[in-house]
Amino acid sequence: MPARTGAQYLEGLRSRPRELWYEGKRVEDPTEHPAFRNITRSVAALYDLQHHPELRDEMTYPSPTTGQPVGLSFLIPRTVEDLVRTRRMMKRWADYSGGFMGRSPDYLNRALVGYASAADYCAELDPRFGENIRRYYEFVRENDLCLTHTLINPQANRSVGPARQADPYLACRVVQEDAQGIVLRGARMLATLPTADEILVFPSTLLKSGEEDAPYAFAVAVPCDAPGLRFQCRESFDYGRSAFDHPLGSRFEEMDAVVLFDDVRVPWDRVFLLRDVDRCNRAFAATGAVAFMAHQVVTKNVAKTEFLLGVASLIVDTIAIEGYQHVHEKIAEIIIVLEAMRAFLVASEVEAQPNRWGVLQPAWPPLDAARNLYVRAYPRLVEILQQLGASGFMAIPTEKDLQGPMGPTIRRYYQAARAEATERIKLFRLAWDIAVSAFGSRQVLYERFFFGDPVRMAGAMFQSYDRRPYMERVREFLERAEQQSPALPEETPAVSRE
Ligand SMILES: Cc1cc2nc3c(=O)[nH]c(=O)nc-3n(C[C@H](O)[C@H](O)[C@H](O)COP(=O)(O)OP(=O)(O)OC[C@H]3O[C@@H](n4cnc5c(N)ncnc54)[C@H](O)[C@@H]3O)c2cc1C
Repeated sequence: MPARTGAQYLEGLRSRPRELWYEGKRVEDPTEHPAFRNITRSVAALYDLQHHPELRDEMTYPSPTTGQPVGLSFLIPRTVEDLVRTRRMMKRWADYSGGFMGRSPDYLNRALVGYASAADYCAELDPRFGENIRRYYEFVRENDLCLTHTLINPQANRSVGPARQADPYLACRVVQEDAQGIVLRGARMLATLPTADEILVFPSTLLKSGEEDAPYAFAVAVPCDAPGLRFQCRESFDYGRSAFDHPLGSRFEEMDAVVLFDDVRVPWDRVFLLRDVDRCNRAFAATGAVAFMAHQVVTKNVAKTEFLLGVASLIVDTIAIEGYQHVHEKIAEIIIVLEAMRAFLVASEVEAQPNRWGVLQPAWPPLDAARNLYVRAYPRLVEILQQLGASGFMAIPTEKDLQGPMGPTIRRYYQAARAEATERIKLFRLAWDIAVSAFGSRQVLYERFFFGDPVRMAGAMFQSYDRRPYMERVREFLERAEQQSPALPEETPAVSRE
């Protein structure tokens, strides 16, 4: 099956029911359940864009195996033009939600591009693993599957690794290995979008090297309907309201779930790394997967910041606060973040280099800078919206209020300098969904953490960024300054403090 339609994605969810647990009950059909229905439709809409007559060429490329059109986010880049093309396609998807879908399928398609193009990294451990990841990438590409992933062990005791938890079977681990494959038992902390088709159970970078963490070190892929696999979902932030009342939450609530492995069997052809702690810790960086993912993420950040700039500017215009200097400064702050994200993205493409595996990898330093910056910038952008909107975020009657007996009164008193009441309320409800609602708060948490702990991300940058040339340059400068300046007197007279 080449590039899928939305209907095919929805049919896939219906025909392969997974164990999705929500408010104490198993969800029968996520495409109809109130907590999941809307996000499944939004993912379906992304797939449909691949079939839009004017966009097909932009969104797909001919499969190297069948010649049929497949999603462009599966493209293994060889040229800068490939990277630019892929970025344009990813931007199209990100714009659909204003950047509010973190798990549009391109995010993990790019991870898979990294892993598959560096299949030898897996093959160095076991030749079968290299072949497995290559085939798996082709399988996902040719069937246009939607992936989720889970990397982090449960947050029980962060002062010790998974092997030293009170219960060594708390974190997901290998409990059996036989001729057919491996068996997994335990939990992983989170998977966003449990309505994906498959889940990558991949390593994070946090295991201690040493034998004791070896059972927790693996990279495997499992269909979401695998026997024994359960998703325990959090409360939905889609309040079941109209798009007028809840413009983002009613469409883009992706859901997050703790993932439980109740002796889940993984056949050997779905195993890509196993029991090598060091290799697992290094995997995302060494394969280039993190750079390909970050290229998608920064594309999404550009879309999201553009959207926020549009919302903030409309607020300024609607209530006529464009004359105040601090308002200019706040809007300028958003523009600065936007232009920085764009510049990082372009720099990552222009400075892309063939990596160890012969694939053109976007340059990591600008992408790393972008992801470290956005963690700090996004909460500030949301704060700016709050500062501009002020009590306007509390003056947001619902669609039903407007349709009820208070409608005419509301239309009179909620008018703005440059908008009718209904138009103003619509805009402020959108801004509220970014800056105040549970959906909006979760977005802030998401941007702070989804790519890892910001503290350790900054630590990794400190460790990996080559600062030696700059230190050397300053040493050389100091030496040169010493040679050029007149000799200091032998003894500097003591300065009296009296
Ligand atoms: C909305 C959302 C969606 C997510 N979606 C996914 C997903 O789809 N798939 C997935 O795999 N993950 C997902 N994550 C998880 C994400 O990867 C983690 O949040 C991130 O890696 C941080 O880990 P943690 O949340 O366990 O925080 P913890 O590691 O528990 O950290 C808690 C606090 O302790 C501090 N701390 C803990 N250990 C150390 C240490 N060794 N050194 C210094 N400080 C430390 C941290 O700085 C932090 O302040 C998601 C997270 C969020 C919030």
